[in-house]
Amino acid sequence: MAALVVLWIICGGVSAMIANHKGRDAFPWFLIGVIFGPLGILASIVVSSTDAKKEKQAIIQGSMKQCPRCAEAVKSAAVVCKHCGANLEAEASQNQLSSDAKSRHQALQDAIAKNDLETARAILNSGLDLGDNPLPLSHLDYAEMHGNAEMRDLLASKLENA
Ligand SMILES: [Zn+2]
Repeated sequence: MAALVVLWIICGGVSAMIANHKGRDAFPWFLIGVIFGPLGILASIVVSSTDAKKEKQAIIQGSMKQCPRCAEAVKSAAVVCKHCGANLEAEASQNQLSSDAKSRHQALQDAIAKNDLETARAILNSGLDLGDNPLPLSHLDYAEMHGNAEMRDLLASKLENA
């Protein structure tokens, strides 16, 4: 009798493990396993994964995306998040903007590294905000690191004028 109880509890544990792996609550499935024994395990195998798991798969496949504000899954074509009402297009274009700025700062540092005064001047004159540099090193430090006095002066004068 005792062995049978142990076996049924093991069935509960196995059911809970399988259910948990599918993104379902483990505890109810533990009870199902304890009550129904091997049948509980069978049920936990047959039952489908939760929506959360399906959403994760959909995000990976690209048919859904994650809302940047509430982190819920929404359809990729959605303009407004159905969960929190965030304007997804605005959020997307904001991300675009900041990544644009980042790539311009990156381009400036590339120019500094290559000692390309022409390109550096063009980027600076395009109105890049030097104080808004998301890169770990400031442009001035970067120019100094490369031992480029002319480049450093160019950046310094730009910073003074800002
Ligand atoms: Zn949202």
